[in-house]
Amino acid sequence: MTRQYHLICPFCHSDDVKNWHEVDDHKVSGERFHIFDCNNCGLRYTQDPPVEADAGPYYDSPNYVSHSDNRSGIMFRLYHGVRKYMLNKKRRLIGRYSSGKKIIDLGSGTGYFLDNMKRHGYEVTGIEINEGARNFSKDAFSLEVYPPELLAKGEITKRFHIATMWHVLEHIYQPETFLRQLHGILEDDALLVIAVPNYRSSDATHYGSYWAGYDVPRHLWHFDQNTITALLKKCGYNYLTTHRLPFDSFYVSMLSEKYRKNALYLLSGLMHGAFSWIASLFNINRTSSLIYFFHKNEEI
Ligand SMILES: [Zn+2]
Repeated sequence: MTRQYHLICPFCHSDDVKNWHEVDDHKVSGERFHIFDCNNCGLRYTQDPPVEADAGPYYDSPNYVSHSDNRSGIMFRLYHGVRKYMLNKKRRLIGRYSSGKKIIDLGSGTGYFLDNMKRHGYEVTGIEINEGARNFSKDAFSLEVYPPELLAKGEITKRFHIATMWHVLEHIYQPETFLRQLHGILEDDALLVIAVPNYRSSDATHYGSYWAGYDVPRHLWHFDQNTITALLKKCGYNYLTTHRLPFDSFYVSMLSEKYRKNALYLLSGLMHGAFSWIASLFNINRTSSLIYFFHKNEEI
């Protein structure tokens, strides 16, 4: 296995980086990784992740929710139960900031979000790396879903008013290149919506290295508002606003308790999730996951 070592910050190229903490891969491999912290731009990044060509086995788990449709187990039932509420909330939020109807979802998974949008009059396209998830979304919802290579090769000829990335940017090996490629298929002033875990959240502080939002080595980058805004600015997008993803605090807290081997992880996770959610009402920057809204800028 080949690994990718970052001697300097991959985003701002500062050498003022330090080893912040050891974090285990609780979900798939059990391997230990280090998260580094950039003192200059605030980015946290996973050190020594497998290179992209070797990353496949780290996604090879029945617990990987976004690529499966497994309804057994209480965690999954909860996940699928709140999904419907969240899909409607996401659609309403998008409608507040864009009247456009052509939407592309990057990392569309099994296609539930695009199906919801399609049912409400949107013209939808998906990009998804996982072949099984692509096939599922085609079979179950008749969606148009392409592999990411098509975007990289410039073979997507449509232009879009809205692009969404729900918990995807933190998985992308070359985020700058990807965001610039995306820029080329968006209409002027298009809306870009990006949801990522927030390492400044109260649940991240509480759980430390057990925080499920780190999810190493699948999550390569760990963002806060400053780092994501700076990255997007560099790639041609202006920051517009931020919203909460409220249920993530419950889901992430329950998973984090499970990683701490708490037998009462459901109860403890619900309690801490509620605490984290209430804290976020007073300070949005303490929210477990945030949805950032950007507008495409003319210039890169
Ligand atoms: Zn940096």
